[in-house]
Amino acid sequence: MKKISMLFIMIIISIGLFSCSTSRTNDVIVASSFPIYDLTKRVVGDKYEVETFTPAGVEPHEFEPTPSKVAKLHDAILYVENGLGFEKYELDEEIKNKTLTLSDGIDVIYSNHSHDDKIVKEVDPHIWLSLSNAIKMMENVYNRISLIDPSNEAYYKRNYLNNKVLFEALDSKYEETLKNAKSTYLTTTHEAFGYLCHEYGLIQISIMGISTEDKPTPQQLSLIQEQIKDKGITTIFSEELQSEDFAKSVSETLNIKCGVLNTIEGLTDKTSSDDYLTLMAYNYLQIMEALC
Ligand SMILES: [Zn+2]
Repeated sequence: MKKISMLFIMIIISIGLFSCSTSRTNDVIVASSFPIYDLTKRVVGDKYEVETFTPAGVEPHEFEPTPSKVAKLHDAILYVENGLGFEKYELDEEIKNKTLTLSDGIDVIYSNHSHDDKIVKEVDPHIWLSLSNAIKMMENVYNRISLIDPSNEAYYKRNYLNNKVLFEALDSKYEETLKNAKSTYLTTTHEAFGYLCHEYGLIQISIMGISTEDKPTPQQLSLIQEQIKDKGITTIFSEELQSEDFAKSVSETLNIKCGVLNTIEGLTDKTSSDDYLTLMAYNYLQIMEALC
């Protein structure tokens, strides 16, 4: 009897040791949306399972989870968000205490909107569309995960630094190319590329606002059409996850090209095998074609 119970204890101990020494598959990290998922996963690698809170194909700006879906965040060891109003749902204190906000330490830019005839200053949440911000966001993941799991600190650091090198290489390509751009105006429907424009000295002209629900008034629209003519703009960009109809009708009216940029807010069937870096490379080619 004693022998059997000893054996039983040995098995329990060895299972315990085994599950500690390999990946912590029981510990789930939840990321609010696709860009947050991608940047988090690059750093934590196979040490944690990372889930995306916003379902595939859903615009994160418009995502409203049910209370029971929010309650499931209690099971995660860490909830990672962008912040700056990108996630609109309310979280309770317990979840707030295990939230990592990737916009911490990043310089924000503001956008001026006219709303009910008043100019409203609004923070632009699309920080990840700047590669140098994305590096800072990965550094934030590295700092926090190294506190949670210090035994794998070297592994997280290696992941962070390896990705930093890749991000910096694409950043240099953008910079080199856009230094010699023929036009500095990037015309978009959804105002998501402020940080990218800021990084490389471009000026964003957008038809809709920061949130995908904003729609321009007829006066705003005719003002934008004038700007497009005055500045000799050749391409208007719509985006994945959104209807192209609006950009198409403007481009047809003004006889200019209609392109598609990716805000990397979520994947679609068409981009299901892409990731943050391949989509930033795709945007690079589109912008280069339109402006250079
Ligand atoms: Zn957006």
